[in-house]
Amino acid sequence: MLKASNPVAKYAGLNDDCLYLQYEGLNPSGSFKDNGMTAASTHAVMVGAKVAACASTGNTSASLAVYASVAQKFKVVVFVGSGKIALGKLSQALDYGAKTVQIQGDFDDALARVREVCNEEGIYLCNSVNPFRLEGQKSIMFRVLESLNWEVPDWIVVPGGNLGNSSAFGKAFMELKALGLIDRIPRLAIINAQGADTLYQLYEQEGLRWNGGNYDRAASTDFFSQMDQENRRASTLASAIEINRPVNFSKSLRALDVCDGVVREVTDQQILDAKAQVGAGGLGCEPASAASVAGAKLLKSEGVIASSDRVVCILTGHQLKDPNATVAYHSATDEHMDEKLTSHGVNKAPFSNGPIVVENDLDKIIKVIRSL
Ligand SMILES: *Cc1c(COP(=O)(O)O)cnc(C)c1O
Repeated sequence: MLKASNPVAKYAGLNDDCLYLQYEGLNPSGSFKDNGMTAASTHAVMVGAKVAACASTGNTSASLAVYASVAQKFKVVVFVGSGKIALGKLSQALDYGAKTVQIQGDFDDALARVREVCNEEGIYLCNSVNPFRLEGQKSIMFRVLESLNWEVPDWIVVPGGNLGNSSAFGKAFMELKALGLIDRIPRLAIINAQGADTLYQLYEQEGLRWNGGNYDRAASTDFFSQMDQENRRASTLASAIEINRPVNFSKSLRALDVCDGVVREVTDQQILDAKAQVGAGGLGCEPASAASVAGAKLLKSEGVIASSDRVVCILTGHQLKDPNATVAYHSATDEHMDEKLTSHGVNKAPFSNGPIVVENDLDKIIKVIRSL
């Protein structure tokens, strides 16, 4: 669903009717992952897979679990890092009947393991290294263009985690242009969380470019070995993008090349503030999704995005995926901030909207209501 949102446009510094939110929270499992998982699970059935697996920060597992339970053709094993998965997402995997394996470590560890396990055991791998996932995710851009009557917007802004979405979007635009269905390609902005900013570091800080496919592989290899040496781990409240080793890194360089793209990083403070504004504007999203709006606001303040540009922000997942983050933010007061928030650098909550505690007394309640 694509919706123009003037309250959110105002927050980002854009003119009325210039900001569109592509809301992916209404998919069967509540995130954009379903666009790709429907294709991958169809392929799994076609090749007669008996077991499919994925590593997940949560939404991939929820999505795979849904499609597997509908298909009833293969079992599902999902690998998650310990303590790294939002409750809404974990509850989905459990309820849809996926076998959930919790390993010590984070998403990057879980993905490395699941790839080994799939190789050893001949299990069908459903992470976004699976090309059918990316083919399916191209359809998000088809739907955006359809909703805009095929008038190409100026910008697509998307959070970057494993970089499957951004890679798929680049491929979609490349193909649509080659087919003559669009006459120009929108610019792409990929937004990392500051605590998980590999793409930002390599693309913006080190100037790594696709270069016709001959990109400087040593630069990325060096980056990752240094990361290992320093034992640097991804850390952000936006758990869906808490990834330091994006598997679609090289494909995303191609997407950035095709779409004359930029990469930015935003803090967890910027993400949660933007999330509260998105919610107040009528489309609730999870933290990672709000990185797109925080990124659009940042790019507008830098003058990279103009206030009259037509900007589409992808809201990747539903508000109810991560209720803990939402409640922690809205319950914050000047005197008390949730520890999990402050440990991620979120020290204020300018848009918090906490519950008002009132005695069960009619006069007192009315007094509160009148003061609203
Ligand atoms: C998976 C996910 C992302 C990251 O998408 P990538 O394609 O891995 O870059 C962002 N937001 C949400 C809600 C997700 O589930």
